[in-house]
Amino acid sequence: MNLTEEASEFLTQILDTPAPTGLEMDAQRLWAAYIAPFTDEQHCDAYGSTWAVLHAAEPGAPTLMLDAHADEIGFSIRHIEDNGFVRVERLGGSDVAIARGRRIRFQGTDGEVIGITGNTAIHIREDSDKAPKLWDLYVDFGCDSRQEVESLGLRVGDRGVYCDGPLMLNGGKRLVCRALDDRLCGFITAEVARALSERGIRPAWNIVFANTVQEEVGCIGAAMLTYRIRPQAAICLDVTHATDSPGLDKGRYGDVRLGKGGCLCIGPACHPNLNARLELAALENGIPMQRETSGRTTGTNTDQIFRSRAGVPATNLSLPLRYMHSPVETADLDDVQACIELLVAFIRSLSPEDDFGHKL
Ligand SMILES: [Zn+2]
Repeated sequence: MNLTEEASEFLTQILDTPAPTGLEMDAQRLWAAYIAPFTDEQHCDAYGSTWAVLHAAEPGAPTLMLDAHADEIGFSIRHIEDNGFVRVERLGGSDVAIARGRRIRFQGTDGEVIGITGNTAIHIREDSDKAPKLWDLYVDFGCDSRQEVESLGLRVGDRGVYCDGPLMLNGGKRLVCRALDDRLCGFITAEVARALSERGIRPAWNIVFANTVQEEVGCIGAAMLTYRIRPQAAICLDVTHATDSPGLDKGRYGDVRLGKGGCLCIGPACHPNLNARLELAALENGIPMQRETSGRTTGTNTDQIFRSRAGVPATNLSLPLRYMHSPVETADLDDVQACIELLVAFIRSLSPEDDFGHKL
């Protein structure tokens, strides 16, 4: 995939903008500004879930919601010790095993403050081969007292994310960054809006492009927004584990690869009629797509979307990702392109009479 200059700039900017769960608004404003020229309305709700609406060609049409989540994992300050070291709480599923020896950007009262997670040298560390407990972690702000830390504008509850920004790996098509989960899917929904606009496509359904908050702590923003929007169908875009790096048993985790397209989830939460139409759109347009299965719910926003009110035909289209919830999350831009093209093809295929629910 070759990104346009404008898209590439937006992607870099939104990846460089921290959005720890509960503090998503800086990134939300960037996203809303980018998608605005390609859509008819932009809004956000009380907790910051942000959405843009593209109206259907005719009034009275059904609504499709495309959802990605805006928030990312991180840490929040739990306790500032008298000696100036700071203990943290995990925000979402941060991996403590890789949390030492990192740089973290905290959002303090007076702006950004950089801290480092201490890493006692291997030579003098007890249990040097064991992962630390969360409460063993500490952040060093270069301060010798609690007062010094507080004078930087830091207080209990302030949140931070790793400093690691975007990197195209050796000029190839693999993008590395923290928070590709799920910022890259918010990029996909925005690029779908742009593609529809540039190709002069006015869909037969209303399209709601949603960037919801607080997924990493229980898919909360998506539940609020689905309740509000009342869509007739929804596609949730999130990341899934690519299993093509060493040490992963495909018999246990399935076979999902970078560069082979988006990954459609097959399971009870993912409506078979919607899945069938997505598979048809992929087949008819020669767009690569993979499959994975989930025996129960999906672990994504789909779990909240599909059971909203009386039930919403929904499914999960995932972007394959290596090293999820680490500072080196890795995705392939060809998969980003495949997801964009698949969603555009699916939207083009919609007619006002379509109804994905089951009938007797
Ligand atoms: Zn996610």
